[in-house]
Amino acid sequence: MPDSTFFIKTFGCQMNIRDSEIMAQKLSENGYIETSVLNDAELIIINTCSVRGKAEQKVFSMLGSLRKQKLTNPALKICVAGCVAQQEGQKIIDRMGHVDLVIGTQHIYKLPELLAQLSTGRTAINLSDTYEIPQYIPKIQGSQTTDFEPLEPARPFQFSRFVTIMQGCNNFCTYCVVPYTRGREVSRNAEDIVQEVDILVQSGVKEITLLGQNVNSYGSTNTVANGSLPYSFARLLRDVSRVEGLKRLRFTTSHPKDISDELIDCFSTIPNLCPQIHLPVQSGSDRILKRMNRKYSIASYLEKIDRLQSARPGIAITTDMIIGFPGETNRDFQDTMDLLERVRYHGSFSFKYSDRPGTAAASYAEKLSETEKGRRLQIFQNRQDQISLERNREYIGQTLSVLVETNMDGRLMGRSATNHIVHAAGVTGTIQPGAFVDAEIFHAGQHSLLGRLSE
Ligand code: SF4
Repeated sequence: MPDSTFFIKTFGCQMNIRDSEIMAQKLSENGYIETSVLNDAELIIINTCSVRGKAEQKVFSMLGSLRKQKLTNPALKICVAGCVAQQEGQKIIDRMGHVDLVIGTQHIYKLPELLAQLSTGRTAINLSDTYEIPQYIPKIQGSQTTDFEPLEPARPFQFSRFVTIMQGCNNFCTYCVVPYTRGREVSRNAEDIVQEVDILVQSGVKEITLLGQNVNSYGSTNTVANGSLPYSFARLLRDVSRVEGLKRLRFTTSHPKDISDELIDCFSTIPNLCPQIHLPVQSGSDRILKRMNRKYSIASYLEKIDRLQSARPGIAITTDMIIGFPGETNRDFQDTMDLLERVRYHGSFSFKYSDRPGTAAASYAEKLSETEKGRRLQIFQNRQDQISLERNREYIGQTLSVLVETNMDGRLMGRSATNHIVHAAGVTGTIQPGAFVDAEIFHAGQHSLLGRLSE
């Protein structure tokens, strides 16, 4: 359906955001035109997340509301991608007769080809249940694939981009569906990654975030094409950081058990590596961490936090926390609160535990009531909010370098190297997105900082 308009709704993590970018690029290359208005689209793609029950419910409710749209416009094509697609496959088509295509995480590269099949009258296609080495991870040497080319500039904030360095996960944390929905761990060839970053930077990108489910184990298992093993993540960081013109480098997500001394050293030796790390801990209790199969203790986690803070004083540390894991006692929850007091995270993503079908934890007994999980979550979040505010106030009086994302009507918004949102008012309209400005912080909120631009 070249010349058709498409709309993508993305749920979930950065991996999904990056997958949506790849799908948008493949569609644009095949003559499709992106629209930001759902009702104008002739193709709607819902890129789904199954990490939490709530996100999954939102997907099904959105699909339900699209049923009417399909009835009034039978030519509309509806595609479900992402982790729910990989996990539920044919069941989505059986339950939602108006869905035309279900495409698992390993197959997004084939999207235009599958849509072409639909336009020849083929009824609903399900391509979700077979696992392949993800071919859409670009190979540069000896390959005809062009995915490493810079993405369309129309994608959100073109000066900061994600680059996928690996897919899948081998860890099997007992609450997580990722090893089932995204398969086993596969690392991309380092040369391809560096070349992709180079192309992006030459096209104007200032900030790169290297992306994977567990970037710290990059290069330790399986690589796609021409990769020599082992190839540590720290070495990759050094290689990428040397790309000429790259101003800021970040990475996500890290597994605490795989943070090496070599990686910690990078925070003192690589100047353009941002002073920020997201280090999901999930619980402050060793007993619960064991039940989660996380393979580290709180003592070893804290030791790594201390080393990171010494390697880069002022580093901003954020985390993920699951509250109310099966069997979590008041004592375990108190351990989590104690950890929060000890580390004083700059921010955290915290959620009530919810069963994900097919995971080990779903079969655990000792489930907590929704009320109790909600009560504990509230306590945790209230304290985190206070700490975030106190942490943010530490920046008052400091001058931070800000990468500008928007400048509208004299109101500027951007991010500091520590990944804080910074606003500044009364600035000149000549400052363009993608510029770096220095802002002296004079006010701090829970979620952002307010600054005035330095002369
Ligand atoms: S490390 Fe654990 S939580 Fe993270 S993706 Fe792998 S299995 Fe899921």
